[in-house]
Amino acid sequence: MKEQNYLDHLVGVFGQPVSENPGVVIQDAAFEAMGLERWHFLTLDVDKDKLEDAVRGLKAFKMRGINCTIPHKIAVMNYLDEISESAKLIGAVNMIVNENGHLFGENTDGKGFMMSLESNGICVEGKKAVIMGAGGAARAITVEMSLAGIADITIVNRTSDRALGDALVDILNKIGKTRVHYVDWNGTYSVPEDTDIVINATSVGLYPNVNDMPNIDLDSIKQSMFVQDVIPNPIQTAFIKEMRRRGIPCATGAGMLINQAALNIEMWTGRKPDKQIMLKALENALE
Ligand code: NDP
Repeated sequence: MKEQNYLDHLVGVFGQPVSENPGVVIQDAAFEAMGLERWHFLTLDVDKDKLEDAVRGLKAFKMRGINCTIPHKIAVMNYLDEISESAKLIGAVNMIVNENGHLFGENTDGKGFMMSLESNGICVEGKKAVIMGAGGAARAITVEMSLAGIADITIVNRTSDRALGDALVDILNKIGKTRVHYVDWNGTYSVPEDTDIVINATSVGLYPNVNDMPNIDLDSIKQSMFVQDVIPNPIQTAFIKEMRRRGIPCATGAGMLINQAALNIEMWTGRKPDKQIMLKALENALE
């Protein structure tokens, strides 16, 4: 007789709003291709004041893990047993592994970004980067780049959120490996000529504002530079389309998203998923 085992293995995402989060599409495609037919990714709308209950539920259902997105990435740290060193520096957790009731928090956003750079042949050690934005994504990215030995980072952010930029400068100075500069972004920003990597870590260009582009002097971006966008939807932002038109080496935010999702799956299942299948699923969902 065939073995009867219908036990489900659950992972997912806590967020709000979360209904447009494409995580399920990518993760379920990976599970299917891996033959993990009883693994399921749940998209869960969790109120801000119900996060503790949700974490209790996660433990009660023996879920293997969870992703956290807006607005839970910081608050969830209160309910964890252990947090990785880089997630502590970033000050946010976007994925949790449940080891028999022991909750371990990690931040895979910046790690996914680094994997995307590496898959494009870019090593950050000794390089100079300009990053637009100083929010959650920028924090994760700059901390990972700094830990990996980048020489110089310029953070460009709007004057209105100067405090946010200053806080990020403090975090990076604490790591102590990178020269850090902060620029108030009022007007058109011109990228210094000796820059190696240019990053859009703002939400400019995100659906539905798909024609928006960062306020940057496009002529200051040279073919010697590498441009990385973080926007996952649409995959080809107006900014990336323009970079391609100008022959500037670049990568979309899909690489970061797929790589961080692949890392999550590996931490939950112990197996490496097929990233091409995951990318195809994302492209089909967003087309
Ligand atoms: P936050 O809200 O924390 O930060 C948003 C940042 O964008 C801030 O620095 C904000 O500047 C800046 N910004 C917003 N609008 C403008 C504008 N019109 N001009 C200039 N700057 C602007 O968001 P996150 O950092 O969490 O997310 C940023 C983007 O990264 C989102 O689009 C998100 O989808 C994407 N992301 C992608 C991931 C991936 O895997 N590909 C993973 C995580 C995020 P200010 O401080 O002045 O408000």
